[in-house]
Amino acid sequence: MSDKFDVIVIGGGPAGYVAAIRCAQLGLHTACVENWINKQGKPALGGTCLNVGCIPSKALLEASQRYYDAVNHFDDYGIEATSVRADVPKMIAQKDKIVQELTGGIEGLFKANKITWIQGTGSLLPEKHVEVTDQNNTKSTYSAEHVILATGSNSIEIPSAPLQGDIIVDSSGALDWESVPEKLCVIGAGVIGLELGSVWRRLGSEVVVLEAQDAFLPMVDDQIARESLKQFTKQGLDIKLGARVMASTVSGNKVNIQYTDKDGEQQLQVDRVIVAVGRRSNIDNLTLPETDLLIDERGLVHVNGACETNLPGVWAIGDLVRGPMLAHKGSEEGVAVAERIAGKHSHLNYDAIPSVIYTHPEISWVGKTEQQLKEEGVNYKKGVFPFMASGRAKAMQDTNGTVKILADADTDAVLGMHIVGAHSSELIGHGVLTLEFEGTIEDIAHTVFAHPTLSEAIHEAALGADGRAIHIPNRNR
Ligand code: FAD
Ligand code: AMP
Repeated sequence: MSDKFDVIVIGGGPAGYVAAIRCAQLGLHTACVENWINKQGKPALGGTCLNVGCIPSKALLEASQRYYDAVNHFDDYGIEATSVRADVPKMIAQKDKIVQELTGGIEGLFKANKITWIQGTGSLLPEKHVEVTDQNNTKSTYSAEHVILATGSNSIEIPSAPLQGDIIVDSSGALDWESVPEKLCVIGAGVIGLELGSVWRRLGSEVVVLEAQDAFLPMVDDQIARESLKQFTKQGLDIKLGARVMASTVSGNKVNIQYTDKDGEQQLQVDRVIVAVGRRSNIDNLTLPETDLLIDERGLVHVNGACETNLPGVWAIGDLVRGPMLAHKGSEEGVAVAERIAGKHSHLNYDAIPSVIYTHPEISWVGKTEQQLKEEGVNYKKGVFPFMASGRAKAMQDTNGTVKILADADTDAVLGMHIVGAHSSELIGHGVLTLEFEGTIEDIAHTVFAHPTLSEAIHEAALGADGRAIHIPNRNR
C-alpha cells in the first residue's frame, strides 16, 4: 500500500466518508482511516450515524410506530387486528440488517471510487503525517498534502449514572435491548432521549424522562415545544423538567435513582435506564501534544468558517467542530472541504441547516425561532396553520400539529419555519429551500402545492402570514 496520499481522512462517519468520496471524485488520491468494529466484530464504515445513530434509531422508531398503530389505531381505520405481538429480537435483527446493508454500501462506494480504507486508529503527527495503529497494535505511518479530521463524537457519561451492562445504557445500548423494560428512566429530554424514550414507550414501557433544565427543548420555537410536550405527555411519556439526577444504584434487577427537583430530593425505581445527556467530540489521542492542534474551551477542534484548523493543510469537520451535531451538517462540511482542497468554490449556509426530532409527531425546524426574533428586535410577521384543518392529515387520521412560518415584516423574507406534525422531516425541505433561495412569503403564496398533501399546510401558513389563509379564519384581518 502506498504511504503517500493527496488526502487522508481520519474517521469514516457521514462527515469523513462523504469527504473521502468527494475528494476521490475530484481526482485526489484519498485514504480514510477508520477504527469502528461493529456488533458482528467486523470493521465497518459509516460511523455513529450508520452504526448506532441516525439509521438504527429510525429503523426502531419506524418498527415501534407500526406496532403501536396496529395495537391502538388500526381499529380507527376499520381494520381488525387481533393478537398483535411485538417480536423485539426480530425488530432488532431487522434494524441490524439495515445497518449492515448500508455500511456495506459505503464499503462498495469506497471501492468504486478507489479510496484506500486504512483499518485502525489514526493519530495526527506534525507535518501532516498520520500514524495508524491497527487491531494487532501494529503502527504504520502515512503522509498527505491534506489531512481531514472527522473523528466524530461519543455519548457523554455522568458519574451520577455510570453505565452498567444492559441495565444502565447509553443510546447505543438502548438500540439493542431484546426485551421491553417494564419501567424505564431516560436521563435527558434532548433529541436522542425523546426518540429512544418514544421507541420503548410504544413497545409498552412505562417511561419517565428526567431533564435537569426547566425549559423543554429550549432550542425549539416556544410554541412548537409547548405543543410537542402536550403530545408526548398524552402518549404517556412522563417528562419531569427541572429534575437533575444525582445518583443511581443498581440492586438486583432494579435501579434506584435519586434526583432533585423544585420540591427537593426524589426517588425513582426502574428496571432500566438510558443516559442521553449529550455527546462530546472524540479528541482523545487524536494528535500528539507537539502537533499543536488548537482545541477550544468546549473540547472541539478549533476551525474557521472554512473548516481550516490552525495547522495549514489540516481541516476538521462534523461533530468534532462547532455547529449542530447532525449528520447532514458534517456531510456538507465534508463536501465543502473536498472542493476547497481541489481549488474549487464551495458554499455551506449554516443558517439553513434543518433539525429534526423523529418522534411522533415529528418536530422539524430551520432558521430563526420566534423567541430569537423577539430577542433580536426584528420586526416580524407570522403565519400558523394547524394540521387539524388539513384534508390530507384528516384522511390519515393524523391531525396533531402545526406549521409556523416567520418572516421579516418589512422585506417579506422568510426567516424561519417550524413544524410539529406527521412527516415534518420531509416537509421541512420546503423551508430549507426557501431560506437557501432567500425566498419570501409571497414566493410560497404563489407556489402551487398538490392537493391533498400535508405540504398544503405550509402554503396556508404562508398565506396566513398576510391574513389570507383559505381554510382557517384569519386572526390578523
Ligand atoms: P461519527 O459519525 O461519530 O463518525 C466518526 C468516526 O470516526 C467513527 O466511525 C469513529 O469510529 C471514527 N474514529 C474516531 N476516532 C478515530 C481515530 N482516531 N481513528 C480512526 N477512526 C476514528 N444526526 C442526524 O442528522 N439525524 C439523526 O436522525 C440523528 N440521529 C441520531 C441518533 C442517535 C442515537 C445518535 C447517537 C446520533 C444521532 N445523530 C443524528 C447524530 C449523528 O449521528 C452525528 O451527528 C454524525 O454521526 C456525526 O458524523 P461524524 O462523521 O462527524 O462522526
Ligand atoms: P442533548 O444535548 O440535546 O442530547 O440533551 C441532553 C439533555 O440532558 C440536556 O437537555 C441536559 O440538560 C440533560 N441533562 C444533562 N445532565 C443531566 C442530569 N444529571 N439529569 C437530568 N438531565 C440532564
